[in-house]
Amino acid sequence: MRVDRPHAHPNGNLSHSDENDSHCGYPRLVTRPLVDHRAVRRLALVGALALSAVACGSESTPSGALVVAAGFAPLEDVVAAVTAGTDVVVIPLVPHGEEAHEYEPTAKQLDQLADAEVLFLLDGFQPAVDAAAASLDGEVVDLFADIERIDSADGVADPHVWLDPTNMATMAGTVAAALSRIDPSRSTTWTANAAAYAARMTDLDGEMTVGLTDCASDLLVTGHDAFGYLAAAYGLRSVSIAGISPSEEPSAATLEALAELARTEGVTTIFFEEGLPADLSATLADEVGATAAQLDPVEALSAEQIAAGDNYASIMRANLAALRSGLGCT
Ligand SMILES: [Zn+2]
Repeated sequence: MRVDRPHAHPNGNLSHSDENDSHCGYPRLVTRPLVDHRAVRRLALVGALALSAVACGSESTPSGALVVAAGFAPLEDVVAAVTAGTDVVVIPLVPHGEEAHEYEPTAKQLDQLADAEVLFLLDGFQPAVDAAAASLDGEVVDLFADIERIDSADGVADPHVWLDPTNMATMAGTVAAALSRIDPSRSTTWTANAAAYAARMTDLDGEMTVGLTDCASDLLVTGHDAFGYLAAAYGLRSVSIAGISPSEEPSAATLEALAELARTEGVTTIFFEEGLPADLSATLADEVGATAAQLDPVEALSAEQIAAGDNYASIMRANLAALRSGLGCT
């Protein structure tokens, strides 16, 4: 059984463009509409469709825009926030709606990464991105660097740090410091943006703290082992059906042990994640007479979430509502 972090404690905007890149095979994220023509060459290199005049892969005029890459959705959220109001181009790697853990960058993305000044990643979360980073000439920044790690129930470093909003605040500071090394002339901007983002994450953390203080149950039963940092931050215990990666599916014995635990603890809600082993969550819920409710690990946003204007903070607030209902919080 995966389990239990009963203690320990250690921060939005997923500013995706609404463009789905039908030409280049993956969606774009830009920090603002780009109008700087110096950026055209860079935009061409990253295939950004936000500037309609630029076609994927086209050769164009030189650019001074800073191009950075982010491993997956929460990192895009942080980087977009820290670079807000500037001409920085943020390259996303995981297409909307796709599974982030096991995502493998395409050949075209690898070419684009080679052109980025910096790649922000979370070491250990995306093995294929970690592998690609090893061969890059540009800077690679591990946003784990300034975060206190906790282990999963299986004894490996749990990479799901973003599910504690205070860690998002910390990551914003790490991004600002990295960008200040690369472009010191805009250090004031990076720092101020990071501070504003951190303040928003602190507010979110406060809401979650208050909202999860007085609950009938403190046991979180989830699809995959993504919520350890969240549980640790808010005094909950977490157990999961799948492992640290949703591809780590459980044995029959693990499922039975979870069912037994859920019955013993009087669990009324089994949480599931869209695209993850929802069927197993539903089966478990049926078996123990609980209801199934969605909890979003914010690893990749769906096209519907993008269209609705969702971002890290809005999804976490939806998670808070689901948790409060599922755990019987008053
Ligand atoms: Zn995960």
